Amino acid sequence: MERAVSDTKRVLVTLTGVVQGVGFRPFIFRIACGLGLRGWVENQGSRVLVDVEGSEESVDAFVATLREQPPENAHIADLQLHPQPPVGYADFSIKRSTAEENTAAFIPPDIAVCRDCLKEFHTPGHRRFQYPFISCAQCGPRYSIMGSLPYDRENTAMSQFFMCPQCAAEYHNPNDRRFHAQTNCCPACGPVLQLLDAKGNPVETSDPMNRARELISKGEILAVKGIGGYHLCCNAEDPAAVKTLRGRKGRAHKPLAIMARNLEGVLKVCQVSEREAGILSGSRKPILLLPKREPEILPEEIAPHQRRLGVMLPYAPLQLLLFPEGIEFLVMTSGNFSGTPICYNDDAVVQSLGGVAAYVLTHNREIRIPVDDAVVKVMDDQEMLVRCGRGYAPLTLPLESHQHLLAVGGQQKSSVCMVKSGFATMSQYIGELDEYQAYLAFERQIEGFAGLFQSRPSLLAHDLNPDYLSTRYAKEKAGESMVVQHHHGHMAGCMAENKLNGPVIGVIFDGTGLGTDGAVWGGEFLTGTLSQFTRAGHLQYVTLQGGDGVVREPWRCAASYLYAIQADAPAWLPQVPLKSLDTVHAAIRDQVHCFQSSSMGRLFDCVAALCGFQTAITYEAQAAIELEGLADPEVLGWYSYRIRDAEEGLILEYENLLRGILRDLQNQVPVSTISAKFHQTIVEATADCVSAIHDKTGLKDVVLSGGVFENVYLLRGLIFKLKERNFRVYYNRLIPTNDSGLSFGQAAAAGAMGKEAAYVSGDTG
Ligand code: ZN
Ligand code: ZN
Ligand code: FE
Repeated sequence: MERAVSDTKRVLVTLTGVVQGVGFRPFIFRIACGLGLRGWVENQGSRVLVDVEGSEESVDAFVATLREQPPENAHIADLQLHPQPPVGYADFSIKRSTAEENTAAFIPPDIAVCRDCLKEFHTPGHRRFQYPFISCAQCGPRYSIMGSLPYDRENTAMSQFFMCPQCAAEYHNPNDRRFHAQTNCCPACGPVLQLLDAKGNPVETSDPMNRARELISKGEILAVKGIGGYHLCCNAEDPAAVKTLRGRKGRAHKPLAIMARNLEGVLKVCQVSEREAGILSGSRKPILLLPKREPEILPEEIAPHQRRLGVMLPYAPLQLLLFPEGIEFLVMTSGNFSGTPICYNDDAVVQSLGGVAAYVLTHNREIRIPVDDAVVKVMDDQEMLVRCGRGYAPLTLPLESHQHLLAVGGQQKSSVCMVKSGFATMSQYIGELDEYQAYLAFERQIEGFAGLFQSRPSLLAHDLNPDYLSTRYAKEKAGESMVVQHHHGHMAGCMAENKLNGPVIGVIFDGTGLGTDGAVWGGEFLTGTLSQFTRAGHLQYVTLQGGDGVVREPWRCAASYLYAIQADAPAWLPQVPLKSLDTVHAAIRDQVHCFQSSSMGRLFDCVAALCGFQTAITYEAQAAIELEGLADPEVLGWYSYRIRDAEEGLILEYENLLRGILRDLQNQVPVSTISAKFHQTIVEATADCVSAIHDKTGLKDVVLSGGVFENVYLLRGLIFKLKERNFRVYYNRLIPTNDSGLSFGQAAAAGAMGKEAAYVSGDTG
């Protein structure tokens, strides 16, 4: 007996990270039992605690397996071992979860249907053959059905489904794949499908799925309930259906995402690298932006004037059943009207989508948190998140912070970010806050986080712009609030993602953000750290005329720039109506609706208009995206430019550049050449500014952030150029570079500032 005890080793293991909702406890149970260990495992708040005892060899083997072979979708952020005196446990058990406060919360994202479930799904005679809600401990909805932590059935939308004896047996059998699978269910006990017409009346049918397929193949538009919300769905191979959908949804040009039946289908319409194929068929299944393959076999209406297509594969088992015989591609776009948040509420679906969809395919498993599909792309074999959504949300990264806080993001592409116990958790993309529905979703998201984290920080970080609804919210609700200037927020986010403390040079190019001098910034060269910054230079100011209209109508931008350089109204520029041009110029002379701007986004708009972009844009950054699409990659060379070393910092001037473009236009140089030369000019001039700042400061680390860097042509060119000059270059990959990642940046900046040390005035240039 004595000998046995001295041989016995006992350790308490604390695991933090994504360790709930990914089959972790059953995994631990199986290994522990397999090794003959005794003790228990417990979900505690967002941690998992394991107490094991047994022979030294077995305990070591247990810990090694945890470290080296965790379950596929688990992500262990921290593993700690605490040796304990043996107590003589009789067996190994799974304890009931307990709530624990003051730990960071790791909320499991939704996971696409797994390989094992797929196999059963396709096996005739299996009791879950073609069951639209098949899942296991390794897959299924998580975040979108959660109300609170820990991730247990009673805290999810599954609580209303009582498991039948067969399902319950699986749930309680440690050797079953569905052991403690909170979403476990089957045709006998789980959610059921229902087909409704546009008025919300049930459609008489014994097989709603089959009826839905028939309707799709007839060219109808359906609202289909997915994991994080409703999609609007139609046959992507039918130009008339696509056109109708666009018309009804009020989405004129913005690309529509498509869902392909399988990977082979994607290969027919896009060029796909090995990395990209892995992302498409992985466990997150985002919308992946892929280069289109020529000749296009899908209708041009899906992504007009785009070189890329947003494609995903089915991730909810229900979607596998949606493809009618002979149809390989479906349009699967968020169920909403332009700018409003995705519809997820069953009571609201008929009212909100009844005007677009002729039918609604729905079910009775409630969505608790709306989550749009994530959007990603691959650059230089690296995955880059463009929009945080299903499968990625909520996104948790380590973040050193002096305080527990919530960052409320910007105005466009809203998201929020909670900072607690050494980690930052960023929400999914919420929408444009000037839409009232999106603002309500923003408030609900904050409440949702407060519930999941079981805490409500009194400190809120927000943008400098007092007109942002997020800023107003923070000022009204916060016990204490902290201002983070927009571009400093972008810089801090990129630094934190790349684990930099600074000082660094920040090149921050975006559309709009209020500067400390009251002007609209967006072509910024900053230096600084997480907690403070200096404006080292910027794109030369231009007086823009026309308030919001100047963003919607790129030619207004061009008109303002032409006025600034005193260029003649170019009669050979039909896209800029002469009469309107005169009106804009008169308004600038009289200072009506004018503001100062150093926005790089607006310079891109101006050049896009000069290159022929007509009328108004119908989605954000449309003109700039089309300008990028025009650029001929074979063309080298650039326009002349001038950088002035002024008292207030470096000024990147635009006059020479614009005159060069006007000259090329007059000489009928192709716009594909002009676009390429323009991009090259920005690369060269930016690199020169960075070098000049380096000469003054000695700084070698450069971070690139802001929405303009969604432009891969520009980003790749600038990275290359800066590396050539021996700079260390960092950019966003895990966090979106656009404003949907801004809340993370605000969190990083505010977390580093500390209570007393908000910006020192005079230090903000
Ligand atoms: Zn599964
Ligand atoms: Zn069942
Ligand atoms: Fe921005």
